[in-house]
Amino acid sequence: MSSSVAPAAAQPDPRPTLTVAAGTTPRAALESAAAAGVAGSDVNGPSGAVVVRDSAGALRDLDVPFETEDTVEPVAIDSPDGLNVLRHSTAHVMAQAVQELFPNTLLGIGPPVENGFYYDFLPSRPFTPEDLSAIEKKMTEIIKAAQRFSRREIADDDARSELAHEKFKLELIGLKGGGEADSPEAGNYTASELDAEEASQVGGGRLTMYDNVNKDGSLAWTDLCRGPHLPTTRRIPAFKLMRTAAAYWRGDQKNEQLQRIYGTAWPSKDALKEYLNRLEEAAKRDHRKLGVELDLFSFPDELGSGLAVFHPKGGILRRELEGYVRQRHIDEGFDFVNTPHISKDGLFHTSGHLPYYADTMFPPMDLEGSEYRLKAMNCPMHNLIYRSRGRSYRELPLRLFEFGSVYRYEMSGVVHGLTRVRGMTQDDSHTYCTPEQAPGEIKLLLNFLLGLLRDFGLDDFYLELSTRDPNSDKFIGSDSDWETATAVLEQAALDTGLELVPDPGGAAFYGPKVSVQARDAIGRTWQMSTVQYDFNQPARFELEYQSSDGSRQQPVMIHSAKFGSIERFIGVLTEHYAGAFPAWLAPVQAIAIPVSDDQIDYLLDVAATLKKAGIRVEVDASSERMQKKIRSAQQAKVPFMLIAGAQDVDNRAVSFRYRDGEQRNGVPIEQAVAEIADFVARRVNSSPTAADFGAGTGPRS
Ligand SMILES: [Zn+2]
Ligand SMILES: [Zn+2]
Repeated sequence: MSSSVAPAAAQPDPRPTLTVAAGTTPRAALESAAAAGVAGSDVNGPSGAVVVRDSAGALRDLDVPFETEDTVEPVAIDSPDGLNVLRHSTAHVMAQAVQELFPNTLLGIGPPVENGFYYDFLPSRPFTPEDLSAIEKKMTEIIKAAQRFSRREIADDDARSELAHEKFKLELIGLKGGGEADSPEAGNYTASELDAEEASQVGGGRLTMYDNVNKDGSLAWTDLCRGPHLPTTRRIPAFKLMRTAAAYWRGDQKNEQLQRIYGTAWPSKDALKEYLNRLEEAAKRDHRKLGVELDLFSFPDELGSGLAVFHPKGGILRRELEGYVRQRHIDEGFDFVNTPHISKDGLFHTSGHLPYYADTMFPPMDLEGSEYRLKAMNCPMHNLIYRSRGRSYRELPLRLFEFGSVYRYEMSGVVHGLTRVRGMTQDDSHTYCTPEQAPGEIKLLLNFLLGLLRDFGLDDFYLELSTRDPNSDKFIGSDSDWETATAVLEQAALDTGLELVPDPGGAAFYGPKVSVQARDAIGRTWQMSTVQYDFNQPARFELEYQSSDGSRQQPVMIHSAKFGSIERFIGVLTEHYAGAFPAWLAPVQAIAIPVSDDQIDYLLDVAATLKKAGIRVEVDASSERMQKKIRSAQQAKVPFMLIAGAQDVDNRAVSFRYRDGEQRNGVPIEQAVAEIADFVARRVNSSPTAADFGAGTGPRS
């Protein structure tokens, strides 16, 4: 029977829907569609299909015949699912290469991850960098051999005897075998993540083995896996092994320590090259590295993981940022409040954070017969301020703001520079309002925080709407409350005109949220600000206001953090600007460099004038040579460099040198001071250049 072809409905980039007849393979359907000229049915090339999605949503191998007729959609190698299949299949090839080179190595799991894959191994000795090169070489041979990934169903007991030598795989069989047969869920490999709950999802009565079969039909290698995979190893266009790391079996420190090898794989050599360039660029911008180089902040071991100290220059960044944010909140009608860092833990039971979120909070401290907790969120304390006296509808909306210090327990493996910390300062606000006021308040907050991000030079964003998972018991509150809250947030988000991406299941337990995802200078996305609609905490704290008819009503509460946390925002800004902060934010805005020691006193006078104009300026009076001083100032990414030689002293002038190396000579002092002060006052986010102030004279050699 031939395959029929129908166009998929209402999709921006239509993928054809194909029928796979009983006893035939998806490949046969794709090939006859391709022969009929149907777009999207190719099985080769950088956008060719590597698996199909069946009508139940499961991904299926191209070459495994269907038992019953079904409709399928091709999944291209460069689609998110296709990339997962590519990367997971590359993990297989890596494991095969490892076992060929190091025969006694035991296998853990090998799932795809963002931008790549890993596989966990128990080798007889740790892998070396030379080993990785050898493994890559072996992988290239396996890819060239065009081995088929051949699927074979197997009974649990047969799998047990076939894998008797692989103790970790045996454990997986125990987790996965014997379940009810249900259709496999897309993207879940045997290797899927580590907890039993997820592993049982992967279940389904039928275990499968994947044999790698050579062109001559001989068996090259076998792995227990639910698949699906690429049709052959040859379909891996480009890969690279990245690094090794230690990892505990099933992520549990009580288990055996394994060796993890990370790799990456892409649909073309160009895509791989682009990715490696992006990594290199990201490494240059790494805020942890720049934090040391620019003397901004550090993470002393004595304090503990995820706890930063800000040095004077980082302190200036904080001061500028907080000052600006503080003023903007005043302008927008927020009241400032202040709350302590610790509280009796009953408060967090009232709010509902305990007991469910205990593992994200620091453990309790016993004091005078009470248990105290470091606060992980400010809202419960703001609720107490709201509740401190009776409230009238006339006071609403009431907008409480605080730079609130909070502490969260992040696992040490997750802590990362300033972007994942254990102690942070949130620019946190809680708006209490009537349900009727809520849409307007949410709109105000969204526009306010988008404006703030733009003021700091982040202007490429999309929004994400996080909603509850109706099948989870993590979320509290009635269906109708959730529906109302979600609709209000969704409308406000749509009204911004920005792209809105759904995030099902991503809501906080007390209500849905809209978050702003900002793209930085090299296209990476950072979750920044959030606006959350909460009907739960007002009920749990019995918050009330007297309405115009005298009745007691419950307000709605809207949580909003503009930058998320000051620490994280500084981390993101450091990477966005690669440390070359806008002049208005830069810790040192201008540095004065004498051509020789004879101009030091003159430049100290110029610096005094600049200081009077509010500019943060330094004079480099060190004994280094001028060229060395210029290089240091460039490395410190100072926006304005002022150079003076004997002639400049005679003319009461300075020469400007900018970050890009351009130079302007003989600018009179008053004009130089006015230009810098004006540029800073205008909060221009781009680096100053000669062109901003008229002609440049080209770089001085
Ligand atoms: Zn697999
Ligand atoms: Zn809150």
